[in-house]
Amino acid sequence: LVSREHHPARSVVRVGGVPIGPDTLSVIAGPCAVESPEQTLTAARMARAAGASLLRGGAYKPRTSPYAYQGLGEAGLRILADVREETGLPVVTEVIDPGSVELVASYADMLQIGTRNMQNFALLQAVGSAGRPVLLKRGFGATIDEWLMAAEYIAQRGNLDIVLCERGIRTFETRTRNTLDISAVPVVQRLSHLPVIVDPSHSGGRRELVLPLMRAALAVGADGVMIDVHPAPEAALCDGDQALLDADMQEIAKTATVLSPLM
Ligand code: PEP
Repeated sequence: LVSREHHPARSVVRVGGVPIGPDTLSVIAGPCAVESPEQTLTAARMARAAGASLLRGGAYKPRTSPYAYQGLGEAGLRILADVREETGLPVVTEVIDPGSVELVASYADMLQIGTRNMQNFALLQAVGSAGRPVLLKRGFGATIDEWLMAAEYIAQRGNLDIVLCERGIRTFETRTRNTLDISAVPVVQRLSHLPVIVDPSHSGGRRELVLPLMRAALAVGADGVMIDVHPAPEAALCDGDQALLDADMQEIAKTATVLSPLM
């Protein structure tokens, strides 16, 4: 269902009226985790000022350590909905278990499946039936074919509004948080009609790598990027090292403005 063999034209996925796909450069930005109403609203304003058309932010955080910040849960979803009201930005947020899909879908414009859950098949089937577009991140240990088969689980439930997100894979390299598999973008675009975006924040894991990796993503034809921003990264409860500040966001805005007419 997600293959180009049966659907040669590349698809456009609409999220709260915002198109993601060929001929547009979509910037999704916001905090890694929702921490408070003020932090989320400030980050959303930073995102919007830099040209972002969608707000990201996790209310449920699947952390490696059970002692790390796990997110605000439903209170975080309410904050995201309030910030959408205030800024007009549709909300993309992660859902981590099948039992909370309905709840998350009642607040979110797009459901995110994180790297750790790419092969959680019950979750994929649940979001496939939830009536919301899905952002499917690549598993950090998944091949491209496994990633596309994960998308197939969602599509099989009747939901073809899927955007794929390359967010880096695990290799022997330790200087970056993950290795951005830039070749995945054109490879997937040949195999599948679904839009493909890149998350340079979770790939590089460090602020100074976000802009160069964003440029690389757009150079190979990615349909957009997903970027972490935070008003005070040094105090962030999650992934502060990779969060962009206001000044960095100006660079993102310039890059997006220069490159979008070329898309
Ligand atoms: C995220 O985008 O908030 C996230 C946790 O990303 P990933 O699943 O790619 O690690």
